[in-house]
Amino acid sequence: MTSILNADLHCHSVVSDGTLTPEELAVRAAANGVELWALTDHDEIGGQHRAAAAARAQGMKYLTGTEISITFAGQTVHIVGLGFDPDDTRMQQGLHQTRGGRGQRAMDMSDSLAAVGIRGAYEGALKYAGNPELISRTHFARFLVEAGICRDTNEVFRKYLTEGKPGFVPHRWATLRDAVSWIVDAGGQAVIAHPARYSFSANEEYALFSEFKTHGGQAVEVVTGSHTAAEYVRYADMAREFGLAASRGSDFHSPDESRTDLGALPYLPGGLTPVWELLAGRIQ
Ligand code: AMP
Ligand code: MN
Ligand code: MN
Ligand code: MN
Repeated sequence: MTSILNADLHCHSVVSDGTLTPEELAVRAAANGVELWALTDHDEIGGQHRAAAAARAQGMKYLTGTEISITFAGQTVHIVGLGFDPDDTRMQQGLHQTRGGRGQRAMDMSDSLAAVGIRGAYEGALKYAGNPELISRTHFARFLVEAGICRDTNEVFRKYLTEGKPGFVPHRWATLRDAVSWIVDAGGQAVIAHPARYSFSANEEYALFSEFKTHGGQAVEVVTGSHTAAEYVRYADMAREFGLAASRGSDFHSPDESRTDLGALPYLPGGLTPVWELLAGRIQ
């Protein structure tokens, strides 16, 4: 398969912090011309069988997916997994463990918001969480908008849920080595998600890419809803420099919140190996 393919290999459903079901996402992706799709819920693969069936019903090809939260050099980084066996026990256990800290973190976030006068945030956020094991900052953001504290979720993140702001609680996620090995050992490919979103120094970014490769990672997101056109070029260069394949995905969460719709992205730049070429045998 060539790089001229409407592949959308990054999005979220109600199984994590999206607002549409896997079936609704499949209908929307197909309507937007997506040919190869992956649902990549945060730290969770409970929607995979539904998503694969919905893709089939819509005539799209499908790759299994997830987006794993890890901690690297003191920051949260996301590693997308594609094409793994969704019934792999170690992968399921690793993700279960990764989700484990979210409940306590949510209660701590709620306490932190209460200290600046915002009450009931835990209960408010939980109402938005389709999967109670996967309560995330996005669910808090939706509650703060509903409560009239901010106009939109971007404003919530800017004022409350990011480092140094009330409502932010530091958290230690999985390690890079563990996340990559869960994916690769389950027959999939690991992908560094939206690399331009992190605030690493050049040295730290180099360390992320080289350690990722050492652990068996083979791809990086180049064209994503969170990158600018200049960042497509920068990370296409990084992919060539590190000998990594390239991925493409909208990171769509919600019709009301996401700037980039499913499938609505430029094609991968030329001269790169699309990650779906490495996964040809895993496409359903
Ligand atoms: P969590 O996994 O609970 O830390 O939540 C992370 C999620 O919050 C991301 O996957 C995004 O969906 C969302 N998010 C993070 N930063 C922002 C931001 N600046 N604006 C809007 N959403 C954000
Ligand atoms: Mn998210
Ligand atoms: Mn992400
Ligand atoms: Mn995402």
